Parts: sequence; C-alpha cells; structure tokens
Amino acid sequence: MIVILHPDTNREDPAYRQLLEYLKGLPDISTSTHEVIGAEQRLTEIYLIGDTSALDSHQIECFKIVDRVVRISREYRILGRHKDDDRPSHFSYNGITFGQDNLNIFAGLCAVDTREHVEQMLRALQQQGLSCTRMGAYKPRTSPYSFQGHGRVCLPYVFELAGKYDIKVVAMEITHDNQIEEIQQALTLAGNSTGVMLQIGTRNTQNFELLKSVGRQREFPILLKRGFGITLEESLNAAEYLASEGNRNVIFCLRGMKTNYADPHRNLVDFAHVPVVKRLTRMPVCIDPSHSVGTRSAAPDRILDILHATAQGVIAGANMVLIDFHPAPEQALVDGPQALHIKELPWFLEDVAIARQAYERRCQAQQKFG
Ligand code: PEP
Ligand code: MN
Repeated sequence: MIVILHPDTNREDPAYRQLLEYLKGLPDISTSTHEVIGAEQRLTEIYLIGDTSALDSHQIECFKIVDRVVRISREYRILGRHKDDDRPSHFSYNGITFGQDNLNIFAGLCAVDTREHVEQMLRALQQQGLSCTRMGAYKPRTSPYSFQGHGRVCLPYVFELAGKYDIKVVAMEITHDNQIEEIQQALTLAGNSTGVMLQIGTRNTQNFELLKSVGRQREFPILLKRGFGITLEESLNAAEYLASEGNRNVIFCLRGMKTNYADPHRNLVDFAHVPVVKRLTRMPVCIDPSHSVGTRSAAPDRILDILHATAQGVIAGANMVLIDFHPAPEQALVDGPQALHIKELPWFLEDVAIARQAYERRCQAQQKFG
C-alpha cells in the first residue's frame, strides 16, 4: 500500500510526524519513505510493507496531509501501475520530457569511432531539429578480440560536440559502475554541455550489482534494455531494482529476443509488448529496431525492414526510438550492417511521423468508439 502525501509536504510538519506515528503503530507493518523531486513539486510517498489487506485505506485518507492511498495490486511496487493509480508516468531531464504519451528519437552511432563521424552525426541531427542521440563509448562484445569502444578517451569530444550541436541527452551504455564517475567527470570538464542517459545493455539486464549502483545515482535517467533470453517479468523486475535503489527515471527498451526463429533477422521483434509494458508499469517504453532487425534488408516495397519494425513499435504507442545511424556504415567498427546512412535520416523521420500520426488517430478512434 502506498500513502501519497499532498505535494511539497514538509517533513518537519507536526501533522507528518503524527501520521508516521500512526502508521508505525500498525501491527506487523513497516514503512519506507520515498521522495520524488519533480521540476515543479516534491512528492512524498510512504510505502507500507507487510500484510496490508486488513488496513482501512479510508482511515488513513482522513489524515489531512494525505492526498490518497493506493493499494499495490501487482508486482513492481515502485514502477508498477496499480489499481486507481494516477501517479505521473513522465519525468523531465535536461529540458526533455519522457513519458508514456510522447515520443523522443535517439538516433546516433552504435559506437563512437572518430571525432569526425561524431560531428557529422550530431550536425545532421541538429539540422533535423533533434535534441537527443545515442553514442556508445563502452561496448560489450561477444568476442574478446573485437573493438570494445574508446571508453573515457572519447568522452571529452563527444560531450563538447553534443554541446556545440545543442544535443540535450546522449544515451550511453555502461558496463561497469566506475564508468558513472568517468562520465560525471567528463561532463563537469565539458561544462555540463549536455546530459547523459545511462544505458544498461541486454547482456547486463540481470547484473544486479550494476543495477544497484546505477539505481543509487539520481543524476542520470536510465535506459534499461530488456534481457534477450529471459521473461518479460524478469526484465521488469530488473527495472524495479533500479527504482528500489532510488532512481525512478527509468525507460524500458524492447530490443528483440534471441532465438533462431528470428532468422533472417538478428532478433525476434517484440514490439507487440509496447502496450503490455505501458499497462503493467508507468515507464515510458523505448524500441530499438536496429538491434532487433540487425540488417539493412528491404521488402519489395523498398521500405527497409528496420523502418517497418520502427513503424510497428511507434503505431503501438512507443515513447522513444533508439536507432543506429552512421555517416559511413561500411567503416563502422560495431554493427555497421544495421546502421542507417545519415542521408536516410529525413526519410526515417518522415516515416516515424506518419506512424505517430496513425497512433494518435487510433487513440481518437478509441475515444469515439471505445
Ligand atoms: C546497443 O544499444 O548498442 C546494444 C549493445 O544493445 P543491446 O544491449 O540491446 O544488445
Ligand atoms: Mn550495437
């Protein structure tokens, strides 16, 4: 059960202490308090842990500082969407809003290779009016002999160029918790020219110690990739690990499931789960068509499979698209075969806009007929 207090409640307020005393007096119930600090207000939530089935929520709602009481009807205590739970499903970071009802595009390099390629990419994004990108510095690779990213060496120029081209958020995978500090230091040295979204890759979805470290920091939002060989429930629990450590600014990314049934695609596209994740949780949902599809093949209609998959996710209400582009895909050091060419960016964006409009029209049809 979650007791939600009125916004900006002061913890020094005697009414707050009175409520806490009452809750602590409940038999076999313990409490844990969380603060959600938003752009406009601070929200205090008190979690009641134990068997709450016999508790009368109306009695708790009689306390003046209590806004409402939500019964936890499912797992995922913090990120889950519970019955009569109208808590917000969005957050803002560095001027960009992430939520279950809007759409952000993160196009960029799977892996940073040269400064020139980073600059060409970011310039193209700015020309198209985009404010977010993906830039891999730390790359987990199947073979120990493959290029594993430039690591912290490339951070200064990535952040400097992101500032130059007015990029507000760079999604960047980390594979070890000490990379959080490397990113923090590089950002500070770059005068906080941009922001970073920490990405947990599919190979680390159940790296619980990494999840705990990333969840403990509150500075950066987190993009959690679904594990490619575990159940959806297991991956959603991984997201809950992040939130239970304190960071609730989590976006959940569908990126396809590893199975030979996906052939000739790299992974089996799982974007039909966009509405499922939105129903079970309050997390914005991202799709990664590049790592799902993995090739530049096109159907007889000449539309690339990656664009078809993107459209499937967007028309189902996806809130973020993470997609590989490159100025010279044949020279890319990681995942070149799935990268779209910079010249294809306007086409890609138009295709996404068509799918998003179709989604919005579908919502209108639901209101009319549903
Ligand atoms: C990536 O986004 O670059 C990546 C490695 O993705 P995933 O963890 O989904 O394989
Ligand atoms: Mn990749």
